[in-house]
Amino acid sequence: MPAQLLEVALPVPLPRTFSYRHEPAQESARRRAAVGDLVVVPFGRRREVTGLVTGAGPLPDGVTAHEGVALRPVTRIHPPEYRIAGERLRLARWLAEYYMLPLGEVVPLFHPPAPGTAARGDAEDAAAYPDVDAGPVVLTVDQRAALAVAAAHLDRGAFGAVLLHGVTGSGKTEVYLALIERALAKGRSALYLLPEIALTPQTLSRIHARFGERAAAIHSGMSAGRRCQVHEAAARGELQVVVGPRSALFAPLPDLGVIVVDEEHESSYKQDEKPRYHARHAALVRGREAKAVVVLGSATPDLESVANARAGRFDLCRLPDRLGGGGLPPVRIVDMRGTGAPDGLSPVLEDALEQTLAAGRQGILYYNRRGFARALQCRDCGEVQECPNCDIALTYHLRPRRLLCHYCGHARGVPEHCPACTVGSFLPGGGGTEKIELHLHGRFPEARVLRLDHDTTRRRGSHRRILAAFAGGEADILVGTQMVAKGHHFPRVDLVGVLAADDGLGMPDFRSAERSFQLLTQVAGRAGRTGAGQVVFQTWRPEDPVIQAASRHDFDGFVAGEMPVREALGYPPARRLVRLMVSARRLGEAESAARELAGALRANLGRGRLEVLGPAPAVFPRLQDRFRVQLLLKGTLRTAERAWLADCLRALKESRRGVEVGHDVDPVNVY
Ligand code: ADP
Ligand code: ZN
Repeated sequence: MPAQLLEVALPVPLPRTFSYRHEPAQESARRRAAVGDLVVVPFGRRREVTGLVTGAGPLPDGVTAHEGVALRPVTRIHPPEYRIAGERLRLARWLAEYYMLPLGEVVPLFHPPAPGTAARGDAEDAAAYPDVDAGPVVLTVDQRAALAVAAAHLDRGAFGAVLLHGVTGSGKTEVYLALIERALAKGRSALYLLPEIALTPQTLSRIHARFGERAAAIHSGMSAGRRCQVHEAAARGELQVVVGPRSALFAPLPDLGVIVVDEEHESSYKQDEKPRYHARHAALVRGREAKAVVVLGSATPDLESVANARAGRFDLCRLPDRLGGGGLPPVRIVDMRGTGAPDGLSPVLEDALEQTLAAGRQGILYYNRRGFARALQCRDCGEVQECPNCDIALTYHLRPRRLLCHYCGHARGVPEHCPACTVGSFLPGGGGTEKIELHLHGRFPEARVLRLDHDTTRRRGSHRRILAAFAGGEADILVGTQMVAKGHHFPRVDLVGVLAADDGLGMPDFRSAERSFQLLTQVAGRAGRTGAGQVVFQTWRPEDPVIQAASRHDFDGFVAGEMPVREALGYPPARRLVRLMVSARRLGEAESAARELAGALRANLGRGRLEVLGPAPAVFPRLQDRFRVQLLLKGTLRTAERAWLADCLRALKESRRGVEVGHDVDPVNVY
């Protein structure tokens, strides 16, 4: 076989491909390469880098260089199961273009680490979890209507997007499962995306119970060998359902018919490190390219999805009623102003908890702060202990006793006296889940308390253990951060208490109201699944419209108040955003680079349709010893404008040593 000249896209921040020589006859295991194959090549001093073949042609005998550069040989080709072809190749090209990344930088999304190391017999211990699926149910009228809308796209064999807006516990999961069954009956396959696999053992169990061997999970908590095994089985058509977090979207299932994006409002669908992308948006693109139906489901849809449904781009299906139990639980608002109890339980909440425990039922307490206290403040001089790298208050932790920065991880011991005034002692300000847990032990010594937060879930499998123990009735109270607000179905929970319902409202982000509404609605939705539920919101802002709307489970009311604000200010979903973050060790360097960038943007892009905001110090102006200055670009960039911007950012980085410029298309956080 003649030698080949290959063009290969590599995961490096350069907007070009690289040429290699490939001699298929050299070893028996080798084969000819084609566009879409994954190959391992040497690059610079690195011996083995995996890249994507974007071009393949004959290499005439005796040619050893291309465009003046000596051609190095391809080390090996990955098996055909790793080929990126068809709609996945089109998705890769879309990701690179839309998110302004070199094609090679999105390729790692499409394969597990260490491709080709599949280990046989390394099957997972399907997660043990109580209350698993009891088998197909008889769908309600609303469920059947939603299923019919989604199935119509499937039956036509055409792309369609459905927003399934169903209140907490309204039977959305049953609709997804029924739709997937229908796709499988047609010989098509399905992807089921979940926001966080560790927090959703129950849904995983239901999928396994329904589809058995035909379904498998794929996620980063699995061994590389097991991930390869699932990837290869999917590519060979041996699996029909792949379930996982955002990364599962890229699984090589042939004949994809359905993509489910469960809890579509969750910000974990956005990858906030390179390559930055939003899996909900990417799911719509894959669905379009595969002629599949994409179902986005939530009790609190993202405003972007609401806008898409209003514009007719998505079919909207609603499940307004909760199944079982007595409807959505009533919410009481407790005004904490003037109570002098900055972080405790109000008498109303303590009484409700006492009654719940006395009735042999369970309670959930949600407080979105981990640790013992937010910050350590001197009683005498008022000095707050801050991180030396980030200019952010350090959080006081009891076990182990230390001060910790939640941004960079800087940790240090707790001083006896204030280092600033040398005499003062400390008053831990604010509270945290750990402090609440201690308080509960004192107040309800008989109650069995579990805590679910970042600190109690460091070990693999610990999320599942805690969630399964609580679902199984091995504890009476679950205290935790927003992890407790996810889609759990705990039949015995009567009471949900939110300790500081206004906590997220002060975040300097245009989405803070939306995030708060989602969290409050979701956590309230954990109560009253099988009995009479009740919810208590403790707050210092009882009149706030977000808290008011959440207390009435009033999604439409919230949207009616919030959408005009976004439109007036030109924020998503009214307009799109690109965030540009310039950082440097010295403030002056970051500022001057940001000014130069802003000038270039205004000269080239600021023609009415696009608006440039900034430069302005980022909300966290210094993180990890770097000063951060940001710019926001409002409006929808055209293809040529994206290409220009990518070049502009690269040129700026090259011309200024020590300056980093990060870009984030459709940022989920702007602080
Ligand atoms: P969601 O995904 O909206 O939170 P689920 O699909 O988990 O809701 O359903 C909530 C509960 O109601 C589950 O226990 C589920 O088994 C049950 N359920 C769902 N659909 C039906 C139905 N048609 N008939 C009876 N029970 C149902
Ligand atoms: Zn820090």
